[in-house]
Amino acid sequence: MADRQSLALLGDEAAALGALHAGLSAAYGYPGTPSTEIMEFLLERYERGSGPRAQWTSNEKTALEGALGVSFAGKRALVTMKHVGLNVASDPLMNGALLGIQGGLVIAVADDPGMHSSQNEQDSRHYAAFAMIPCLEPRSQQEAYDMAGEAFALSERFRVPVLLRLTTRLSHSRAAVIPGPERGENPLSKAEEREKWMLLPAHARRNYLSLIEKQAALEDWALEHPANRLETEGRDRGLAVITSGLGGNYYEENLGDLIAGRGAAPAHLHIATWPLPQGLIRELCAGAEQVIVIEEGQPFIEERLRGILRQHILIRGKLDGTVNRTGELDPETVRRALGLAPRPSLLAGGLTVEGAEVTFKALDIPRLPGRPPQLCQGCPHRDSYDAVKKAASSLDSVSITADIGCYSLGGMAPYEVPETIVCMGASIGMAKGASDAGIRHALAVIGDSTFLHSGITGLIDAVASRTPLTVIILDNSTVAMTGCQEPILPPAKLRDIVLGVGVEPAHLLELEARGQFLEENAAKLRAEAEYRGPSVVIFRRECLESLRKRKKKERTKKAERV
Ligand code: SF4
Repeated sequence: MADRQSLALLGDEAAALGALHAGLSAAYGYPGTPSTEIMEFLLERYERGSGPRAQWTSNEKTALEGALGVSFAGKRALVTMKHVGLNVASDPLMNGALLGIQGGLVIAVADDPGMHSSQNEQDSRHYAAFAMIPCLEPRSQQEAYDMAGEAFALSERFRVPVLLRLTTRLSHSRAAVIPGPERGENPLSKAEEREKWMLLPAHARRNYLSLIEKQAALEDWALEHPANRLETEGRDRGLAVITSGLGGNYYEENLGDLIAGRGAAPAHLHIATWPLPQGLIRELCAGAEQVIVIEEGQPFIEERLRGILRQHILIRGKLDGTVNRTGELDPETVRRALGLAPRPSLLAGGLTVEGAEVTFKALDIPRLPGRPPQLCQGCPHRDSYDAVKKAASSLDSVSITADIGCYSLGGMAPYEVPETIVCMGASIGMAKGASDAGIRHALAVIGDSTFLHSGITGLIDAVASRTPLTVIILDNSTVAMTGCQEPILPPAKLRDIVLGVGVEPAHLLELEARGQFLEENAAKLRAEAEYRGPSVVIFRRECLESLRKRKKKERTKKAERV
């Protein structure tokens, strides 16, 4: 029986619960802020034995491939990742769109406008358009719950994967959610139509045609979707406003002032789907002189309006600077976009509250100094970077590429060791390229989990071409940056993997990342950098945060036994 009481959930948790209640059979993902909590929520239940299989995978590609296998067997699967993870998963995504999805397959992707913990601001809606699959974009925790459930039904109805797009503020803020009824899992029912799942050219051509044919039905679905809400009655039709995602909330927060200033609310359309509800857009803009588009992320809707609207109309949004082109939206930036004056400061000045003037004195709040992110005091990466820095200081012609993880912070003061940070696994490929280009000492710094995610293939390339480079694996026994998830394989396996791809045993070193070994570690690293072939140096010491969590868990277990 469903629990109808409201629950205070993060947007991520609401999406996870929506998937659970929709009859989820398996969930796979790779940790990445702001999506991590979706899987954490499911994992907690799985480990307690009260939820379906939930697992972290080596990377986002293997996560989506696993989900395709679940779908092939007729069951419902969820995949979770952050926006840049979708680049890694893009191969099975693009091809998965051509399959005849059997069990519902939903890809929950959390975008990070403002790049709070990401290397770019890409907008996952582009992937939905690129793959020609539907996308749902919730604007509240309740919608995250409802749309996660709906997405599975949609996936089975149109037999395509469905994207559920979240953004940072929604993922990481909490609000009340009223859960709906719970559905059981699908029965095991393997897909029978082999041509649907065998993308040989003859089949793929037919499947692609079928995907194209689905687009008209998807457009009809979008037109009817209740979350695509058109408001024109009694509105000032000269101005049209289109919102999506949290942009809709910020718009409504400012609506009272907008009405007070203009005498009437503008015509408004909130869009929550891809495909876009083109008919509603035309209806919204009929007779309008201008339309303002307020959307979180890139100018995805805005760029498409020209192709949808027949009449000449002034389109304003991110492209002309009406709305901030980069970073997150917030109530103030939306206010500015709507032509409203900034809200009076609560620190000094006055407000009218129910007709009465209330004045405030400026509070003497000192400006807090900025706190750039830093490696924790005592972090093992500090000792590893000291050794790398010392070794590199006595080498000529050096390049130091690095990767994504806590150790990226070594790129900032006071260490400033890595010279590049691009994407998961890139450090090794780039070190190989730098070495091929003539840099004598190419060093690649990569974490244990990132190495398993997508560093291994770069090392295979280096071994295959006997490239002189040194891969420095910082093994802190955890995926620290996203909250200390367990790496996909235990750290002890790293040695076998490195030797297995062909690194010579004499050129695989395992060192302890401690300050007292600085001179010794730097000397050994320097010697490996001089070696004219691929070498690997593993610096080992557990992350302090992981150590703290592990000890706490052990204490709790011990207390439970007593
Ligand atoms: S969380 Fe762990 S790995 Fe990250 S900076 Fe802190 S100690 Fe280092």
